[in-house]
Amino acid sequence: MKKARIVVTGAGGFIGHHLVRRLTREGYWVRGVDLKRPDFEPSPADEFVVLDLRSWENCFQATRNVDQVYNLAADMGGIGYITANHAGISRNNILINSHMLEASRIHGIQRFLFSSSACVYPQYRQNDPDVTPLKESDAIPADPEPGYGWEKLFAEELCRYYKRDYGMETRIVRFHNVYGPMGTYEGGKEKAPAAISRKVALADDGSEIEVWGDGQQTRSFMYVDDCVEGLLRLMASDYSEPLNLGTDRLVTIDELIDLVSQVAGKKLKKRHDLSRPQGVRGRNSDNTLLNRVLAWEPSIDLEEGLKITYEWIAGELRKAGRIPAAEAQATR
Ligand code: NAD
Repeated sequence: MKKARIVVTGAGGFIGHHLVRRLTREGYWVRGVDLKRPDFEPSPADEFVVLDLRSWENCFQATRNVDQVYNLAADMGGIGYITANHAGISRNNILINSHMLEASRIHGIQRFLFSSSACVYPQYRQNDPDVTPLKESDAIPADPEPGYGWEKLFAEELCRYYKRDYGMETRIVRFHNVYGPMGTYEGGKEKAPAAISRKVALADDGSEIEVWGDGQQTRSFMYVDDCVEGLLRLMASDYSEPLNLGTDRLVTIDELIDLVSQVAGKKLKKRHDLSRPQGVRGRNSDNTLLNRVLAWEPSIDLEEGLKITYEWIAGELRKAGRIPAAEAQATR
């Protein structure tokens, strides 16, 4: 059987780049689309087009002559970024998602996957660090993360309308904190595991690092290879309602720092900065439906994934001459 031709938007970004690597390795023809090329290595996509997908014409061009769309492009970042940019993020992503859906419909795309987020879940269910894992049906009545969560939730609805009104095959995935190598680790758009890895790598043994919030906020974290595996499985499934994709191992941010410090072989003190945003108090994924629909769930250990991620970030900092040679020897 002829393999599908696939477009991945956000292919210059973290998850998109890992997805393109996996799809090309499996023999699919892949077009990557993004505002920028990947930051850390060339894209293995068969074709890579630099396009701003807020424009209708560019979405139309991006979706020509392909069978499937993984729509991962989004204006997003860590908690600092999404807290400070409600208007810009909402406008940009509403434009990307609505144009991409409509262009895909016009081109008769067979399957369209939208990458949503655990940020769609109501804040009123996430006030306790010992949070009850969130199941898909918890999203409504809605009270999502301002800006980023609202636009994701509405884009999910838009996918459901396209399925209902036009019979388009849509897939909706709700990621819970994806981490791994080749993700942004500084500059303001990085997420907690990457930010912590950078801070730990740059800190001298025995010194102090800054932590956002009181460190007791909880999350679950999924290694990027599990994320990509889940994406392929969901795309191949016949399930078109929103589905969680994450792990259900809940850790506090302080525990995350301890795990990264262990990998680095450093003892560090924590200075909690309560003036910094920390997002919801606790968030975990209920994987009951995921297991039922895909007969699978993410399984890569946090310790194992953090080791790979930390070593990659430390390696980048070392290459840039930002970790002294003696220290670099010790962490190798
Ligand atoms: P990322 O920021 O690394 O990748 C997103 C990419 O989209 C970037 O390369 C960016 O340049 C591109 N982009 C932004 N605006 C664009 C535009 N106007 N036109 C074309 N490209 C544009 O983020 P990621 O972590 O790889 O996330 C991928 C998707 O998964 C996003 O939709 C994100 O909202 C979602 N998600 C990620 C996580 C996570 O933990 N990483 C969690 C929940 C949801």
